Amino acid sequence: MIIVLKPRTTKQEIARVEEMVKARGLDTHIIEGSEMTIIGCIGDTTRIDIKLFEVDPSVTKVMHVQEPYKLASRAFHPEDSVIDVSGVKIGGGHLGLIAGPCSVESTEQVLEIATTVKAAGANLLRGGAFKPRTSPYSFQGMGLDGLNILCEAKAATGLPIVTELMSTAHLDIFHEKVDLIQIGARNMQNFDLLKRLGDIDRPILLKRGLNATYEEWFMSAEYIMAAGNENVILCERGIRTFESFTRNTLDLQSIPVGRKLTHLPIVIDPSHAGGKWWLVEPMAKAAVAAGADGLMIEVHNNPECALCDGAQSLKPKKYEELIRQVSGIAKIIGKTAD
Ligand code: PEP
Ligand code: MN
Repeated sequence: MIIVLKPRTTKQEIARVEEMVKARGLDTHIIEGSEMTIIGCIGDTTRIDIKLFEVDPSVTKVMHVQEPYKLASRAFHPEDSVIDVSGVKIGGGHLGLIAGPCSVESTEQVLEIATTVKAAGANLLRGGAFKPRTSPYSFQGMGLDGLNILCEAKAATGLPIVTELMSTAHLDIFHEKVDLIQIGARNMQNFDLLKRLGDIDRPILLKRGLNATYEEWFMSAEYIMAAGNENVILCERGIRTFESFTRNTLDLQSIPVGRKLTHLPIVIDPSHAGGKWWLVEPMAKAAVAAGADGLMIEVHNNPECALCDGAQSLKPKKYEELIRQVSGIAKIIGKTAD
């Protein structure tokens, strides 16, 4: 943290600000120019409200030098994190291929899709049991019955399961049954929910909020990590922009930015980004080429009749083709799916 003082501050004023800094357990380094004085503050500032220093009349501005997140930051953890999801590794050269329907609709539907995506090369099965829908009149998901269907599909195929947790009321049952717990875009800043994820050791797939900056997204990862659960995977799923032709805009830059600023794996969800099935393949390929650690793709055996997100779902055959092509790209850049 750096504190810039007003021009021509007196020795007493400098000493007063220095005292405020030291009272918060930090060391100081004074840089005196001909007009301006800057106080460099040394120590952990993550728990300090740095704007408080601006209360002093001789302070012009206060700035962070480092990012406000620590546990998620690459600066303090130079190697890529590899997250183990019930035996499937994601990150550091290991590609997570998550596929399945938007929503669990029936046992037959999930079993059929799980079998086909597994044969195509997917290593994790997704499916929403609790659905965060914009309209209260839309299908809200099968709830705990849906979760049990996912467990049946896991038993039948061996694929670990990924599903969204919306409420702390289901934390214990998710801890028991779900391999990778998804926190949806709309709950990215549900801080009470994030803090409770520290009570469990299951890996978390943290989706980026619709309007979240990188820093807000990484701070949400920091919430989970600071609460005691360091198994976090980031998921970019498109952000809101002025463009209305597509559902959202896929921010491919989040891959290199995320890899530079954090050590956490980044998975791309091209389905929710574009909202159209024919955008999934080109964006998935681009994501892997740009260094993504995984893909989360919606696949439906009968998208015309899907209860949620049929228009962005791939048919199993298309998914198979996509994985064939993506595997070639992944190989070139040194990544493979377990
Ligand atoms: C989903 O993955 O089914 C979902 C609802 O995603 P998001 O939270 O990104 O909208
Ligand atoms: Mn969906």
